[in-house]
Amino acid sequence: MSINKKKESNKSSSTSINDNLQSSQVEIKTTFESMGLREDLLRGIFNYGFEKPSAIQQRAIVPIIKGRDTIAQSQSGTGKTATFSISALQCVDVGTRQPQALILSPTRELAQQIQKVALALAEYMSVQVHACVGGKDLAEDIKKLESGVHVVSGTPGRVLDMITRKSLNTTHIKMLILDEADEMLSMGFQPLINDIYRYLPPSTQIVLVSATLTQDVVTMTNNFMTNPVRILLKRDELTLDGIKQFFVAVEKEDWKFGTLCDIYDSLTITQAVIFCNTKKRVDQLTEKMREANFTVASMHGDMVQKEREEILKSFRSGENRVLITTDILARGIDVQQVSLVINYDLPLDRENYIHRIGRSGRFGRKGVAINFVKNSDIRILRDIEQFYSTQIDEMPMNFADSIN
Ligand code: ADP
Ligand code: MG
Repeated sequence: MSINKKKESNKSSSTSINDNLQSSQVEIKTTFESMGLREDLLRGIFNYGFEKPSAIQQRAIVPIIKGRDTIAQSQSGTGKTATFSISALQCVDVGTRQPQALILSPTRELAQQIQKVALALAEYMSVQVHACVGGKDLAEDIKKLESGVHVVSGTPGRVLDMITRKSLNTTHIKMLILDEADEMLSMGFQPLINDIYRYLPPSTQIVLVSATLTQDVVTMTNNFMTNPVRILLKRDELTLDGIKQFFVAVEKEDWKFGTLCDIYDSLTITQAVIFCNTKKRVDQLTEKMREANFTVASMHGDMVQKEREEILKSFRSGENRVLITTDILARGIDVQQVSLVINYDLPLDRENYIHRIGRSGRFGRKGVAINFVKNSDIRILRDIEQFYSTQIDEMPMNFADSIN
């Protein structure tokens, strides 16, 4: 694949592909049963707890298992992992103990997470899914690959290493899946992906999966995908449905810190985002928390993009469990596994309230939001309640029970 990066694009690189490209017409399958999946896989899906396919699953699984090159874009938390994992599992021939599906993702944590999901879905199949990631013992990796695996979920560096050592046999690969495709095809990874691609059979089916796709990436796909099916889902509307909203009366500013320390343990049960209104307050709170020996990560708009991405990545992977930030995180970036949001400062702009704590209500996901309210903030809180026609109750002692 030769990839020409189009530099002179007058669209900003964050422009959604939806603005530039039409989705393909695809059939919608509203049940897993109607997708023609193998019985043992179907059983694994239900056993994993999925009852109904998500929107992206309803549209993307069938074209992928039919062998079409596919571009699937939908926002975070919409079930893209299972989309390609189910498709890959459907396509492997368990009788051939050779890698047949190769899934690449940008981080070790993601590659391992995907392996876990695929293994769980494959509970009733005799499929070997191997996580081939950097930082792990080389000899182990080689041994595992040589013992015969069907699906490989890995990071590009280690996968290429295993291919060049001839431990990962690429001759039976039918499907290459790039998760977080925009990142995989960005400058950092592109050369590695190119190298890996050269070792794959020319007929390899390509599947790109991402929450965001830039026009540059889409342009690039013309070079190595054949008439791809494009499934591009718009973002859902945010809603407060399913979110339990509480307030804590902290009376005055000085009380906020102690209140936060008191509930810190409950935050780390799950993952929490704490919002402050200014960068300075983010820095101050972070420093105070660290001085008090609490582990927190923090992020705001003064940090360079790369640093922000790294912090987000480690938060998404669960490495960091408490993140202090400003509204930059709230807009645009979903961190869907966050079931607890704390408004350390009430948002000054009431629109930001829903961006901070709203969800797109998929899979009936629940969440808890806690608002720290000074005496002088009570009016703002009532205004938010009225604006969203919602109810914000005083936080009960056992609020931790409502998380997850
Ligand atoms: P994405 O990659 O799109 O960000 P994930 O694949 O990580 O999203 O899925 C987000 C969450 O949704 C996971 O916890 C996953 O188990 C859950 N999920 C995915 N598909 C379904 C489904 N059909 N029914 C219920 N939960 C689902
Ligand atoms: Mg994903």
